[in-house]
Amino acid sequence: MAEGRIQTVPGDGDPNAELMFIGEGPGANEDKQGHPFVGQAGKLLDRLLAEIGMTRADVFVTNVVKCRPPNNRDPESDEIAACEPYLDEQIRGIRPKLIVPLGRFAMNYFLPRAKISRAHGLTTRVGDWLIFPVYHPAAGLRQKKMLDTLREDFLAIPDLLAAAERPDVVEVSPGGGAAEGVESAGGAQLSLL
Ligand code: URA
Repeated sequence: MAEGRIQTVPGDGDPNAELMFIGEGPGANEDKQGHPFVGQAGKLLDRLLAEIGMTRADVFVTNVVKCRPPNNRDPESDEIAACEPYLDEQIRGIRPKLIVPLGRFAMNYFLPRAKISRAHGLTTRVGDWLIFPVYHPAAGLRQKKMLDTLREDFLAIPDLLAAAERPDVVEVSPGGGAAEGVESAGGAQLSLL
């Protein structure tokens, strides 16, 4: 599970952030430096944030798994389960107004059955949390069309933040528990659930 990693990458940013980004897992650069999103995908994340007038200091950034999966493979379900208590505690501590999962692994943590191609750019309330999945920045680096979509989705974030309340009732069910009790929130509606 954690074998092969140099160090854990817990995440960083403002512990009081209203906006929290959750990626998949550390890559080689993150494993070396101990911080999330410090490679090319991270540079794109910084650019997307700048386009909405924000910096990394304004947000909290972490990943579903805290150790680099060997050879950058996808995280496995037991690895996600092993890291779940840490992520749950981070979310409960920060109480963000808006959680932006970056890519399908982070999205499926909250919305196990959702498809990123349909769910990106739509808000869903999952328990206390307002979830707004977007494509992973690495996908934006690979394809111009994805990048355009990612940019467009990011542009909705300031309005979503302005409209959202910081939750004060905090109850995250283990495993995200998103399959049941999902209701749509805000303007855009998630119809596939
Ligand atoms: N990709 C991720 O999902 N997380 C990181 O921290 C870096 C790249």
